[in-house]
Amino acid sequence: MEIRTVGVVGLGNMGLGMAASLRRAGFEVIGHDISEARRQAVEAGGVRFAASLAEVLSAADALVFSLPYAKDVEAVATAPGALLERRDRKVVVIDTSTSDPGTTRRLAARLAEAGHGLLDAPVSGGPSGAATGSLTMMIGGSAEDFASVQPVIAALSAKAVHVGPSGAGNIAKLVNNMLVAAHLITTGEAMRLSEAAGLPAADALQVVNAATGRSAISEVMLPRWVMPATFDSGFSAGLMRKDVRLALELAKEVGIDLPLSAYAEKLWAESRDVISDFDDFTRMADFREVPHG
Ligand code: NAD
Repeated sequence: MEIRTVGVVGLGNMGLGMAASLRRAGFEVIGHDISEARRQAVEAGGVRFAASLAEVLSAADALVFSLPYAKDVEAVATAPGALLERRDRKVVVIDTSTSDPGTTRRLAARLAEAGHGLLDAPVSGGPSGAATGSLTMMIGGSAEDFASVQPVIAALSAKAVHVGPSGAGNIAKLVNNMLVAAHLITTGEAMRLSEAAGLPAADALQVVNAATGRSAISEVMLPRWVMPATFDSGFSAGLMRKDVRLALELAKEVGIDLPLSAYAEKLWAESRDVISDFDDFTRMADFREVPHG
């Protein structure tokens, strides 16, 4: 079935850019956010801000969610008098939130009973990737649902990988972000060592980025947000704490011990007094400060 109208629920740092990218690709876009303050920013991009969640869930041919937590995803998808009661067409939800595979599978089964689909489709690429339609998406769910929303996915991403059944996208994202959480700490510590030993961090970073210690943290995040101390990547420390916690919960659920990652989670949790949930997550790699431990 053709998709003309896309509903976007959650218009924060990521959802706002996604809504704009969908609009540019020619879709009618209706958005909703519990924060009325998002209305102005959204409407400036030609996206209609719906006063109620039910309006978006009832009018859209496909839905994109960009919400903070799994509980928000569940609350929105199962909102009374909305998606679960719709019978006019099959609606596929593309959930781009970083969520957990257990909630996703449960929710996918519930939506399937009502005739709808759910793809866990977490993203990488930050607010700039969302705004330019160049995200990387890692997708879990049925091949049929994945194929049916191809035009929407193409408008949002430069690369979309169907990694497996329901929950597989969440697993891939948590694996990735567990590495990000640890790399931010280790890369910040490496730069602190360099400075303390007499070599400016900028010089050490140049070498690391041409050698084997490099990562997206050293190649992109340090030069862009940490070295100039702008700390404005658009991803909050609170959401990073959520990701590393979800990764460790998944490890527990599947019965494996990840001592170094567990320690990274502890450092992220303990840094809350210095780096609040609302601060940018790149502060964790600030080698000028000791944000944890
Ligand atoms: P954000 O906090 O900027 O935006 C979330 C938005 O959702 C807010 O505007 C909030 O008001 C709204 N919201 C919360 N509950 C709602 C509800 N029940 N109904 C409608 N709106 C609701 O967060 P973000 O940085 O845009 O991240 C969104 C998701 O994407 C998170 O799961 C995050 O982990 C993930 N993510 C973020 C980034 C990034 O760089 N920011 C990158 C990859 C993935």
